[in-house]
Amino acid sequence: MVDLKQSVQYVKGVGPAKAKLLHHIGIDTLDDLITYFPRTYEDRSKPKMIATLVDGEESLIEVMATSNVSEVRIGKNRSILKLVVRDESAPCVITWFNQSYLKGRFKVGQRYKFYGKAQVKYGKVEMVNPVFDVEESSKNTGKIIPIYPLTYNLKQSAIRNAIENGLKIVNGNLEETMPEYLLKEYHLEELNTAIKQIHFPNSFEEYDKARKRLVFEELLSMQLALSCLKNKYDNENDGIAYSKEVKMSDVINNLPFRLTKAQLKVLEEIDNDMEMQKPMNRLLQGDVGSGKTIVSIIASYKAVKCGYQVAIMAPTAILAEQHLQEFTKVLEPFGIKCELLLGGTRPKKRQEILENLKNGTINVLIGTHALLVEDVVFQNLGFVVTDEQHRFGVRQRSIITQKGNCPDVLVMTATPIPRTLALILYGDLDISIIDELPPNRKKIETYAVTKSMEERINNFIKKNVDEGRQAYIVCPLVEENEEIEAESVTNLQEKYKNDIFKNYRVSYLYGKMKQKEKDEIMHEFKEGNIDILISTTVIEVGVNVPNATIMVIENAEHFGLAQLHQLRGRVGRGENQSYCILKYEGKSPEIRSRMKIMCDTNDGFIIAEKDLELRGSGEFFGTRQHGIPEFKIANLFEDMETLKSVQSVALKIESADPKLEKPENKILRKLIDEKFTKRIEI
Ligand code: ADP
Ligand code: MG
Repeated sequence: MVDLKQSVQYVKGVGPAKAKLLHHIGIDTLDDLITYFPRTYEDRSKPKMIATLVDGEESLIEVMATSNVSEVRIGKNRSILKLVVRDESAPCVITWFNQSYLKGRFKVGQRYKFYGKAQVKYGKVEMVNPVFDVEESSKNTGKIIPIYPLTYNLKQSAIRNAIENGLKIVNGNLEETMPEYLLKEYHLEELNTAIKQIHFPNSFEEYDKARKRLVFEELLSMQLALSCLKNKYDNENDGIAYSKEVKMSDVINNLPFRLTKAQLKVLEEIDNDMEMQKPMNRLLQGDVGSGKTIVSIIASYKAVKCGYQVAIMAPTAILAEQHLQEFTKVLEPFGIKCELLLGGTRPKKRQEILENLKNGTINVLIGTHALLVEDVVFQNLGFVVTDEQHRFGVRQRSIITQKGNCPDVLVMTATPIPRTLALILYGDLDISIIDELPPNRKKIETYAVTKSMEERINNFIKKNVDEGRQAYIVCPLVEENEEIEAESVTNLQEKYKNDIFKNYRVSYLYGKMKQKEKDEIMHEFKEGNIDILISTTVIEVGVNVPNATIMVIENAEHFGLAQLHQLRGRVGRGENQSYCILKYEGKSPEIRSRMKIMCDTNDGFIIAEKDLELRGSGEFFGTRQHGIPEFKIANLFEDMETLKSVQSVALKIESADPKLEKPENKILRKLIDEKFTKRIEI
């Protein structure tokens, strides 16, 4: 047995100094070390003829030295070494900068292998600072070399060595983590081979097999860990069984509009859950504007009329305020008292709220993270809604639910996620989807334009504002990011306010402003006292101003599709035709195709899939924000096929052996206990 928890410091060639560097990249133990997977590989195994080298390409050549090393000294500590080599096809000059110590290493007539970037100019071939081997040795060449991610001050060779030595300690003695029957059925490599070959594959076939196994294991344990969490909730019988006597229809029949079929279906699912004893844990997915809020209002009605309190958590104060308005409008006529608690709530007011919360005078408390604070105590919290949950995560969810006694939980998100992915990101929740927009919504007309259209766009905005509408202009705020050459809010606001739109009421909003200021501006905009609001993405989430009909997004090429879609969702919320104008720069086909997708469809699910495809899963989800551990090796997009087979395996295992108690599954139980459950529940 190998002690995988042993400190990495004692691996040969590591020591205290390197151990510190390794700590920066999350490597503390032997286990961390051998599961620090390569980012990519360099194929140094296939030699090429010098005459066939391509400029800028990393290549391996097998050559003989035809000259001695010559050295040119430039200044005190700087030098250039040159060596001429050749193979049957052509000569090549090898150049080293500032590596004098290599001078004595080469002899005329001796054979060497060099690996490095080729420079081909006017038919002459040169290689600068290559790695090399003498004769047949293969320390640096002749094989596939792993390249590791983000190694700070660590050299690739240092981490490679450490891993090589770590694997020597392991010596093929890792305990298998997957059941025999799965390895067989899915033709998966056994663990020791997989770990060894993911680092040092002899061929890309070996690499493929190793990776497949490790991805399979990672996705399966994740999926099983989530369903175990879910089973755990299912087994808790101490939740609240809401009364069948309280009817959601009492509110529904009182609304100024008719709910869509999709809303009704989702409400039925929620109603069923609420009436059952076991606590509800449900994810409500729906595109922007699909009417999720009203669903949560109706469910809250039921909870309150059954004698319980409700907590609504929103990610921003602006949203929380908006919710308060909507909740109050619908629920006050039924004698339900809603209140707002924010980080900025005055101490006196706060004290009053806390008292009324404790004595049960307040039925629905709406707020931001401020609700999570310890002294916020409910009399009997029975229903929790977290809105736009990608901002929260599992941990916050569990803090707020613990303020009640196994309350029902509804998580709402406006980030549409393809079903397969929803299963692995929210596998601990049941999923409801609103897949239809309220009727009579006009499609938001979307145009992608370049600089040359600027004047026409500005006139178009003026025309709409003259007709009484309002507009958003969004620019990516780049104060902390100089890499992106986008116009900052303040630049834009000067340009627009003092020049182009000087006859209009222009204001601006950005993340770093004081909360109070932000709220005031948003309030003014809602009231119609601001014509044009220049803003960063702080307005991305959920803000509802039906009179705003124009959304201009500057440098749209810097945004992901899902984010553009969210931003676009700020308009098209009233009766008037709305427009989204994507200003972009750049001619690359990739940028154009992204703009085209936005112009072609308003369907968030389609956009989500395309976005995922274009950007990969990591960036798309920012998995960390979901409160779910990042994947070490799986990539949710590339590994979609594996994910699908894993999900069917997980389903089979779950139905046959939900607690993973059968002998053949005990090993899985151990795997997820060790690797996942703790991290998920925190
Ligand atoms: P989101 O799903 O983005 O949170 P909202 O709940 O903010 O959407 O709803 C957007 C707007 O649509 C709100 O003004 C809401 O009152 C309205 N709405 C919701 N459902 C319907 C419906 N069935 N018919 C008409 N309007 C609706
Ligand atoms: Mg919403």
